[in-house]
Amino acid sequence: MITFEQGFEQVMAHAAITSRNELVPLDKALGRIVASTQQSIIDVPGYDNSAMDGYAVRSNDIALGVSYCVSQRIAAGEAPQALADNSIARIFTGAMVPAGADAIILQEDAVIDTNQKFASDSDSESDLKVSFTELPRSGQHIRLAGQDIKKGAVVVEQGRRLTSGDIGLLASVGIAELSCYTPVKVAFFSTGDELKNPGETLSAGQIYNSNRYFLAARIKALGAIPVDLGCCPDTESATRDYLISASEQADCIVTTGGMSVGEEDYVRQQVESLGSILFWKLAIKPGKPVAFGNIKGTPFFGLPGNPVSSFVTFHLLMRPWLLKTMGYDDSRAVDLSQSSLGSVAAKAAFDWHNSGKRLDFLRGQASINSAGEVTVARYQNQSSGVLSSIAQCNVLIPVQPGQQWQAGDTCQIIALSDFGELTLIN
Ligand code: AMP
Ligand code: MG
Repeated sequence: MITFEQGFEQVMAHAAITSRNELVPLDKALGRIVASTQQSIIDVPGYDNSAMDGYAVRSNDIALGVSYCVSQRIAAGEAPQALADNSIARIFTGAMVPAGADAIILQEDAVIDTNQKFASDSDSESDLKVSFTELPRSGQHIRLAGQDIKKGAVVVEQGRRLTSGDIGLLASVGIAELSCYTPVKVAFFSTGDELKNPGETLSAGQIYNSNRYFLAARIKALGAIPVDLGCCPDTESATRDYLISASEQADCIVTTGGMSVGEEDYVRQQVESLGSILFWKLAIKPGKPVAFGNIKGTPFFGLPGNPVSSFVTFHLLMRPWLLKTMGYDDSRAVDLSQSSLGSVAAKAAFDWHNSGKRLDFLRGQASINSAGEVTVARYQNQSSGVLSSIAQCNVLIPVQPGQQWQAGDTCQIIALSDFGELTLIN
C-alpha cells in the first residue's frame, strides 16, 4: 500500500491547468479564476483631487486675516480652470484640483466675509470673499493622481480567485470583462442499493444518500460544474454504463462506494476494464479504499462509501487536483505534499499517539485561546460513519504513524475550507 504523499504526488502529476478560458463580464466574475494577469491602463485616481469640501489654494499665497476672492466653483466631475492669481477656488470632495493650487483648506477653517456678501446684489460664489483661520500645508487634503494604482500596475494576477474587492478594483481601472478559466465539469454518482434520497421514505436496511449531496455542494462551491448522475445500482452492467456515460460528458469522474473487493463492489473492477487504476488504496485513516485512475483518458476518483472517508479523501486529493486543473494558484489550497502537511501549527488540547501504521487525519476544532494562541481540540467521535464530525469541525489534524504528543505540544492542522483559508471557531 502506498503512502498518502505518494498518492498525492501521482494525483497532482495528472493535474494540468485547463487550456480553456473565456471572457467573463465583470458582474459575472465573482469567484472565477483569472486566466490572464490584468494591468491597469490608467492611473487611479486619474488626476489630483480634493479629499474634502473646502477651498483650493496656493499655499504660499495664504496669510491669516486676509480675504481672498473665490474665482471659481469646482464640483466633482467638472474640469476646472487654472487658479487665477491671488484667488482661491471653492472645491468639493472628489473634484479635480485646479492647476496652480497645492492645498485644500477645510470649509470648517474658512470664514465668509459677510459684509462683502451682503454688499453684493448677487450671492453667487464668485462674489464671495473668504479668509482662513488656519494656514495650509502644501499638499494637504489632496489625493494625488496614481496614489491607489499606477498605470501599468498589476491589478489581479493569473490564478487568483476573484473576490468582491477584486471586482471593485477591476471596475476602478475600467476593466469591463476579463479572461477567466472555463470551469471544469465533474460527473459523479453514488453506488449502493441501500441509498435513498432525502424526501423519500426509508424501508428497513436503507439509509439516506449523503455523499451525493455533499459532493454536488462542494463541487459547486469550488467553482466547478457538478454533473449529477444520481445513484447507480449495485450491478456490473449498470456500473459500466454509468462510468461510460460519466466519461463522455465531463472532464473528470468521481464515484463513492463500491471500491472494496466485496461481491457488491463493482467500481474498481469496471474502471480497470474500461481504463486503468493507478492506485486503489492509500495508507490513511479514514479513507483507505480510495482510487485514482482514468476511463478512456478522463481522470477518475473512486472515493470510499463511508461519508466521512468520502469527504476527507475528496478534500485531500480530489479538491487540490480540481483547483489546480481549474487554474487556481494558491499553494495553501493546492499543496498538501509532505512538506506542507506540516505547514500550519496549532497547540494540541489533547494527548495523542498514533500507534497504527496509517497516516491518521483526526477531525478537529481550531480556535483562539485567551492567550491569543491557535489551539486545536479533537472531535470526540472519530468514527468514519459520523458525519457530524465533518459538519462540526474546521480542520484535519494529520498524525504520522508512531507520532505522539501531549496536550500543550504543537501539532499540524489542515483547514477543511474550500480554498485553504483557516477560519477559526469562536
Ligand atoms: P461501500 O464503500 O459501498 O462498501 O460503503 C461503505 C459504507 O458507506 C456503507 O455503510 C454504506 O452504506 C455507506 N455509504 C455508501 N455510500 C453512501 C452514500 N452515498 N451516502 C451515505 N452512506 C453511504
Ligand atoms: Mg456499497
